[in-house]
Amino acid sequence: MPRELQLQVAPEVAAQMPLLTAHVAKLMHISPAEIKHITILKRSIDARQRAIKINLKVAVYHNEEYVENPIPLPEYKDVTNAKEVIIIGAGPAGLFGALQLIELGLRPIVLERGKDVQERRRDLKAINRDHVVGEDSNYCYGEGGAGTYSDGKLYTRSKKRGDVDRILRLFVAFGASEEILIEAHPHIGTNKLPKIIKAMREKIIEYGGVVKFDTRVTDILVKANAVEGVQTQNGDIIKADKIILATGHSARDIFELLDRKKIFIEAKPFALGVRAEHPQTLIDSIQYSCDFNTGRSEFLPPAPYAIVKQVAGRGMYSFCMCPGGVIAPCATSPGEVVTNGWSPSKRDQETANSGIVVELKLEDFKPFAKFGALAGMEFQKAIEQKAWLLAGETQRVPAQRMVDFTQSKLSADIPKTSYVPGTTSVELGQVFPGFLTQTLREGFKEFGKSMRGYLTNDAILHAPESRTSSPVRIPRDPETLEHTHIKGLYPCGEGAGYAGGIISAAIDGEKCALKCV
Ligand code: FAD
Repeated sequence: MPRELQLQVAPEVAAQMPLLTAHVAKLMHISPAEIKHITILKRSIDARQRAIKINLKVAVYHNEEYVENPIPLPEYKDVTNAKEVIIIGAGPAGLFGALQLIELGLRPIVLERGKDVQERRRDLKAINRDHVVGEDSNYCYGEGGAGTYSDGKLYTRSKKRGDVDRILRLFVAFGASEEILIEAHPHIGTNKLPKIIKAMREKIIEYGGVVKFDTRVTDILVKANAVEGVQTQNGDIIKADKIILATGHSARDIFELLDRKKIFIEAKPFALGVRAEHPQTLIDSIQYSCDFNTGRSEFLPPAPYAIVKQVAGRGMYSFCMCPGGVIAPCATSPGEVVTNGWSPSKRDQETANSGIVVELKLEDFKPFAKFGALAGMEFQKAIEQKAWLLAGETQRVPAQRMVDFTQSKLSADIPKTSYVPGTTSVELGQVFPGFLTQTLREGFKEFGKSMRGYLTNDAILHAPESRTSSPVRIPRDPETLEHTHIKGLYPCGEGAGYAGGIISAAIDGEKCALKCV
């Protein structure tokens, strides 16, 4: 058995195997030449002290040979002639659900309104360059769902470590770097995700599953409180008595469909705010206590941050922070603007962005009460549409310097930011209801006290960050995971209110698939 050790070492030692080997050898009172191999099992950064340390768990092969053990794929079955289960949506919930069905010997029929990962790129370019938002293909819709062109952060608040590890190992088996199994805060990156997603789709098809792109589901057919199948935008009817509904948090037409058909749904609180962008060097200097001008050690990654405060009885917190990342235009319809963030695997952009959002409560949706269960969705939509109007009716977003925002002062100028479609200087108080503006203003001042240097006019706020989670819950039985009133309908993933992020959506996809047996 290799010997396992917990270490705390300097960043340059953790990053260079000869230095690490020498360090371990000294600890074990042996010569470096006697060490055959060191496997890093876990890695995290401890930046609490001025001298930053790296915590490592390592396996040291001293007396035994090291044999590489690639992570295998599960044993998939040929499901060409098996019983069919419809999955609506090819996001993480839909894709991991489909693969789980194949493991169980069921045939997934995945229906996705968007395009495959390659084709999707063209539509993303059109949003950034021409300000044209395709209603079926955009940063949220298409193969891989909202997670494809993202930061690919793979951490979750899920307490079930076993489930998380299973998903991470599947990602590795489909081509992700093994580093994601080691890092305390793993991420994949926009440049690497499409290849992994494509490999998953190819596996689904290889084993007899079906993946149909450009296929928007427009109706869910229900008879005697049980599903019968779906209708697509071309009028095609596909029959099945089990449907996993994994359409994500932006599928407003699905929420409207369920509401219209009187399939029980409920308004759900979510969070809303802005996306703040700082120079990465500034965040590094705050988080790593390094000099702003000389920058961080070459052996440290661009620093992330996570911050949460209670402001006027509401939580205000950073959301989906992207070190070395870019702000993306994430609208799903013309006539609205929405921001979110992504980063490449190296996180090598010069800017750090994060959603900074405020918890909403159901009573905040009162002005939209006439929309019933869709009140939160209409609240969200109204802000996105207002932002679109204020910024000039393109994909430009309203923006303001951070200190100016806290002082209700229109910024005289907005420097170029990573948000490619561009910005318009707007007093952001005009975008949000008063209570939200007030909370954000106070909250940024509080953030500035905890992270010295954070509250600065070098930080640019982009509005709005509004798709933090679903504004609707599609209720399901906790045991069977079926809709509380409709047999055979499995509300799944983030859109139904049972996940928040790639990993938890993937876990929920698998959970729903397991109930389809
Ligand atoms: P989705 O990924 O939203 O997938 C739903 C799919 O359903 C879509 O492909 C959509 O086209 C399809 N669909 C919708 N309606 C229909 C219909 N009527 N018919 C057929 N198909 C339909 N999470 C993280 O954990 N880490 C990150 O770093 C991260 N970064 C992000 C960056 C960006 C830019 C965005 C937009 C999101 C990011 N997220 C991140 C969030 C993450 O992507 C989502 O939590 C996750 O994708 C939810 O998975 P899902 O399968 O439930 O839904």
